Order: sequence, then structure tokens, then C-alpha cells
Amino acid sequence: MRLARHPVVALTFDDLPAAGDLPEGETRAHIAATLAAELRAHHLKGVYGFVNSVDVADDEDEQEALRTWVRAGMNIGNHTWSHPSLTDVTAEVFEQDIVRNEPALAQYADGRDWRWFRYPYLCEGDTLHKRRAVRAWLKEHGYRIAQVTLNFDDDDWNDAYMRCEAKNDNDAIGWLRQSYLENAAQFIRVGREEQRIAFGREIPNVLLLHETTFTTLMLPDLLEILHRQGFRYRTLAEVQRDRAYALDPDAASKDGGSLPNQFLNARHLQYPPFTPEPLDKLTSVCR
Ligand SMILES: [Zn+2]
Repeated sequence: MRLARHPVVALTFDDLPAAGDLPEGETRAHIAATLAAELRAHHLKGVYGFVNSVDVADDEDEQEALRTWVRAGMNIGNHTWSHPSLTDVTAEVFEQDIVRNEPALAQYADGRDWRWFRYPYLCEGDTLHKRRAVRAWLKEHGYRIAQVTLNFDDDDWNDAYMRCEAKNDNDAIGWLRQSYLENAAQFIRVGREEQRIAFGREIPNVLLLHETTFTTLMLPDLLEILHRQGFRYRTLAEVQRDRAYALDPDAASKDGGSLPNQFLNARHLQYPPFTPEPLDKLTSVCR
């Protein structure tokens, strides 16, 4: 499939300020500072990090992580207070969890726009009733949905990295790095192909990443992959000006998914071929 020479992408990071486990001696604030510095080194500012503030009030390290992220010129958005899946709760409970997250966002956003919402697990509703109710609620409360077009489940590598790092198993860490990058390169390409099938064209992209220790370690190499595929960076607001982001697949889904995935599923279109991520080995390595 012939792909665009210069696709565009907005990077986004989920599960701030405490994505995944930390290695011993590491802090949330240091991870946030490192990640923000890597982004700034590539002239990226205003990158959205989607926050769950469930533990923030009781954790000074998490508070400092949020301050550090915003002070570095990055933005924060709403990812619910406690990260429920809309598949598991009612629309009302889900909306209350969004509201419960708002005081922390207002406190840490430094006056910048935090009314962007990222659904946990990309689950937008397992029934049409829930889907439409939450969408209407978000609109009424001034939120825009931060959609995703590119996703390679980067957070699936973090637990394995914690185990291998604790064991100082450098061979295994080498495999983790290599498989992470291969998986990223493949799913970024596949994500672009999915758009050709779903929309008849490539659309400006939103890449989903997580603020984990391992993604922070891998980000410079990941940006090199984006560079090699010809990507140019845009902000989330710039990307979502494209008319594709005004489209609503309006279909219930238990498992959720990226915007192109939702369209492929709703219209029963065929996915491009891909090799699944190495989940078995990620689960078993360094046990
Ligand atoms: Zn999340």
C-alpha cells in the first residue's frame, strides 16, 4: 500500500502521573522531567498527558511530577479520576469519575486548556445508550474527545522491563528494546493502512503512548522511527481539526479501540495483515 510521504502526528501520553511500576530508587517526578526533556529536545511542547488523579492528593512525588510536566510546557487532560472502563460501569458512575478528576486538573494545569478527554482503555461504551449518553455529557461540559489513530500497546513492555531490570538481565532487556521498536514500527505502519481502508485516505494522527519508565527510556528511538517514516509533529488541537475527527462511528463496542478500528469494526471491514505483539514472551520473560 502506498503511504503518504509526510504524515503528521500528535504525541499523547496516558496515565500520568503514575503509569506502571517504578524501578527501585526512581521517582515519578524524575520520570516526568526526563520525558518532558526528551520531548523538548525534539521541539515538542504542549504535548498532552492524560491524568488520573486518584492518588495525587496523598502523594507528593505525584504532585511534583504533574508540576514538572506542566512547568516544562506540556499540557494535561482528563483520563477520569480512577481509570474505570465504561464497559464495567454505568454512564452516570463514569461521568462522576470524570468530575472527580477536575479539581486536580484545574489546580495543576496552570491556566491551560484541560478539557480534553481520553477514554480509559479506549472504551467508548459497550451499549449505544452509554456511548451516546457519555458523548452528550462530554459535549455539554465543554470537553473534546482526544481520539487515537496509532496505538501499539507500549505499556505492555513495562512490567517485563521492571523484572529484567531488577535481575540485571541485559540480554532480556536487549530483546525488550528490540521487540518494542519492531512492534512500534509495524503498528504505526498498520495504523496508517487502516486509515486508508476506513477513510479512503491517511488522516492526521494521534499516537497513544503511556508515561511509563520503559516508554520514557525508549522515546528517543521511537521518535527516530517516526522520523524515518517521514512524520512531522503537530499539536492535538491541530490534528483534530481534520474532518475525520467529527465523524462518529456510533456503534457499541465492549473492547473499544482507536478511531480507525472503531470504523473498521462498525462497517465490518477487513484489517490489514499484522504480526501480533509478543504477549506470551512479555509475560514470561525474567520470571
Ligand atoms: Zn489509561
